[in-house]
Amino acid sequence: MPTWLVTGGAGFIGGNFVLEAVASGVRIVNLDALTYAGNRDTLASLEGNPDHLFVHGDIGDGALVARLLAEHRPDAVVNFAAESHVDRSIDGPAAFVQTNVVGTLALLEAARDYWKALDGAAKEGASKESFRFLHVSTDEVYGSLGDTGKFTEQTAYAPNSPYSASKAASDHLVRAFHHTYGLPVLTTNCSNNYGPYQFPEKLIPLIIARALAGEPLPVYGDGMNVRDWLYVGDHCAAIRAVLERGRVGETYNVGGDAEMRNIDVVNTICALLDQRRPREDGKPRNSQITYVADRPGHDRRYAIDAGKLKSELGWQPAHSFEQGIAGTVDWYLGHQDWVRRVLDGSYRLERIGGVAA
Ligand code: NAD
Repeated sequence: MPTWLVTGGAGFIGGNFVLEAVASGVRIVNLDALTYAGNRDTLASLEGNPDHLFVHGDIGDGALVARLLAEHRPDAVVNFAAESHVDRSIDGPAAFVQTNVVGTLALLEAARDYWKALDGAAKEGASKESFRFLHVSTDEVYGSLGDTGKFTEQTAYAPNSPYSASKAASDHLVRAFHHTYGLPVLTTNCSNNYGPYQFPEKLIPLIIARALAGEPLPVYGDGMNVRDWLYVGDHCAAIRAVLERGRVGETYNVGGDAEMRNIDVVNTICALLDQRRPREDGKPRNSQITYVADRPGHDRRYAIDAGKLKSELGWQPAHSFEQGIAGTVDWYLGHQDWVRRVLDGSYRLERIGGVAA
């Protein structure tokens, strides 16, 4: 049974990844600082499961990470931990540099020292040859596209927000640790994710929650900004493919071939909710749409060419946007308690055990 140290595994993508990994027979040590974005409710089904150890701590705490690596001897580190919301990075960039850059550096240093000390396959738990450090990153590092073209792994970095700048810096550190120290790293750069357990500050869960509450649905600018959307389970499958079969030192773009204008995403959600749970007054939910002042520096269009991942590793997204968004709307309708506990803050007050750092 492999053991992986996952960071940020109480967040949206990390939480989905941990649930799937444990179900597939991987032992997970889950290090998460439980910022506002960390939610132990997401991991409630793993309570008491001996294959999941939750550790409340910071990736920037090098001594803690070194202790976890020495104690649990993982075969891989998968780094999801980050400050991840662009709007928050505009209001307060320092936290993004602290976690995404300084924190990732501390994690890399601890991983490098652990990996160096692994001597061959003889020792139980991990081998120097098979150890991997996988860094989860974003397509936002590439900046903004015009009406045509797609980001490839060769596209020059041109981050435009404090969030994407901090992720770009972390990607460069990961690359440098491979070239300088030989650490066996892999990096994935993925487009916008959606699906279960996403914090309702991000577009899709925010629109679902506000639409159901009868509140205004804020859309930035003219609503014509384009994003490529990928169902979170497909992203997790891509990460797993790269971790298990990717070439060391390489980066892989991950995307859903599902370019959508923001306004079309919002209209799709409204239509799905109108079908499933019509408003009492019978009005369509897109009557709640309100255009708001654009986000400063808002990138116009992102699109991903995931051809390398598809041809080298045989990965394909299993969900079209239409399937994924319908399933996601149904998931939120069926998990209103999870949403309510986020919105009223109670998810932060009640913890479900775990190990204090
Ligand atoms: P999220 O904000 O939902 O979760 C982040 C998690 O990291 C939280 O559980 C938080 O508590 C934890 N965390 C924050 N700072 C930490 C620290 N210093 N030490 C330990 N844990 C810490 O984020 P997400 O949307 O799940 O994104 C996960 C990763 O994937 C991020 O690196 C993000 O840049 C990347 N990514 C996200 C998307 C997307 O659409 N959400 C797309 C591509 C890449």
